[in-house]
Amino acid sequence: LGPQRAAEVRSLIRDVPGFPHEPIIFRDITPMLADGAALADVVEAFARLCEGPDGHAIDVVAGMEARGFLLGAPLATRLGVGFVPLRKAGKLPPPVERVSYDLEYGSAAIELRTGTLPVGARVLLVDDVLATGGTAAAAAQLVERSGGEVVAAAFLMELAGLGGRERLSGRVVETLLRVE
Ligand code: AMP
Repeated sequence: LGPQRAAEVRSLIRDVPGFPHEPIIFRDITPMLADGAALADVVEAFARLCEGPDGHAIDVVAGMEARGFLLGAPLATRLGVGFVPLRKAGKLPPPVERVSYDLEYGSAAIELRTGTLPVGARVLLVDDVLATGGTAAAAAQLVERSGGEVVAAAFLMELAGLGGRERLSGRVVETLLRVE
């Protein structure tokens, strides 16, 4: 996204202070999704990360539930590769691989159906927001445990200052928008 288009897309992401609770400012991408041109430009910007001699060569897009599905599936279609959903625990029938991780309060787990990823598959992780990086770190672990290789993790929006990039240090992190 060029600077001007990035600012326009940013204006379609609604900041909701105190949701779901203080001190979180929820970044609601729903207005962006509802805007056809913005959605197309976002998917195209992700796609360009994976094209050309310097682009990431990938075999599959893996999206984090739930908003990673909304961005990852159209991206996979655009790139002509498959899409793999990384699901919240308990949604997929067995057999599954599972990775648990800590949240600010409590813990969560994500799952991937055993055998979904071809061994050695080059995977692009996709989600809407990078905050602390805990979800993406768990997603990367899950993909690797399932035999895939995480080529990069791509996010629509990076919330700088929450340590996400540091948490993912050593991995390639791509973000289309950054908020301080
Ligand atoms: P984290 O694991 O802390 O990096 O959080 C990232 C995950 O939680 C992503 O799946 C996001 O969709 C969601 N998330 C975290 N913080 C926010 C926020 N402020 N607004 C919207 N989604 C968020």
